[in-house]
Amino acid sequence: MLRLLPTHTVRLFCSRSARGISSRALATRASIQIPKSQRAIVYETHGGPLLYKEIPVPQPKPNELLVNIKYSGVCHSDLHLYKGEWPLKVKLPLVGGHEGAGVVVAMGEAVKGWEVGDLAGIKWLNSSCQSCEYCTSGHEPVCSTSVISGCHQDGTFQQYAVADAIQAARIPKGVNMAEVAPILCAGLTTYKAMKESGAKAGNWVAIVGAGGGLGSLAVQYAKAMGFMVLGIDGGKDKTQWAKSLGAHEVVDFTTVPDLPRTVVEKTGGGAHAVINVSASATALQQAFAYVRPTGSIVLVGIPGKPIIDLPILPTVSRQLKIVGSMVGNRKDTQEALEFFARGLIKSPVKVAGLSELPRIFEEMDKGVILGRYTVDTSK
Ligand code: NAD
Ligand code: ZN
Repeated sequence: MLRLLPTHTVRLFCSRSARGISSRALATRASIQIPKSQRAIVYETHGGPLLYKEIPVPQPKPNELLVNIKYSGVCHSDLHLYKGEWPLKVKLPLVGGHEGAGVVVAMGEAVKGWEVGDLAGIKWLNSSCQSCEYCTSGHEPVCSTSVISGCHQDGTFQQYAVADAIQAARIPKGVNMAEVAPILCAGLTTYKAMKESGAKAGNWVAIVGAGGGLGSLAVQYAKAMGFMVLGIDGGKDKTQWAKSLGAHEVVDFTTVPDLPRTVVEKTGGGAHAVINVSASATALQQAFAYVRPTGSIVLVGIPGKPIIDLPILPTVSRQLKIVGSMVGNRKDTQEALEFFARGLIKSPVKVAGLSELPRIFEEMDKGVILGRYTVDTSK
């Protein structure tokens, strides 16, 4: 059910002006009504209740945008964080989520180049220092002071969220907001992983986890970039799904008798690049047996127990490259969004209400979701 929220207008901003909201910003905000409170999914402990509740609307800092989130994709990383599976410092209580597509409704006084009404995306990387050696060389996801949405600060499973104006993504006008949301993490991450793989047009790229959220987009980015695509996932539904999205070949890891041999046969000698977007350490381990000599294995998925045995001799003698890849930088983000806006990538999301997040997490945990869920924050 849609809930009508109490609203307060620009007058509130006038009363906050002593806390740093400029007259320029005030002028641009005059027509926008921003409620005092909003609906969000909040958890207080890892694995604890996911509470659908009313919380205050955050106030943007001088460098931040306040974005009215319309849709947020639900990423497996949100589930890992909720379960406390990774050794990351997580803010608690927390509003998760990092694939938020929405509209700018306010901004801090130091923000440049954004207007109220612009479409904005809130990503995993909410902010970074912009001055360290990584930020200044296009590697801002590894900035040691980076702030992660839905981890270090409240994310996009709420109706209003803040993001650093420099890191926020510019969503092209006219795109479907429910469909563009997953591009902000799943699309960006897989597009970047493809670039990092070093694969060339015509090469075979194996997507491990091809029927999931990242995999569904990875198959399409790979195809759009001119690669031959082999999708691996479990069950008929997922492999057929990957095929319907454009995979040239698919392999069902739950039924194939000898997975490495099958992949080597189907690719005429092994995959030139393996992009592991599954959260399975076993799947990653297997990749060493079917990657082509001189090929690359790109690690994207992060299992709860993220350790495998590195087969040293074959890695050395077959001259393999092992690459870690995390989300992407601002340029990668805009490129991934352009592929989507040009119609090269479909984002066949299932839309649900924000209040349904607990059920979505349960389905994700069971591994039964085809593709990606996007939640409508108004429901
Ligand atoms: P998802 O649950 O939607 O998809 C995972 C898919 O992997 C599922 O379809 C599942 O059936 C499949 N799978 C499981 N075991 C497999 C196996 N042995 N072989 C092949 N496929 C198998 O999850 P998602 O949202 O796509 O995220 C996937 C992983 O990527 C998660 O670990 C997530 O945290 C991680 N991730 C990493 C980054 C990054 O920047 N590195 C960004 C986003 C997500
Ligand atoms: Zn994600």
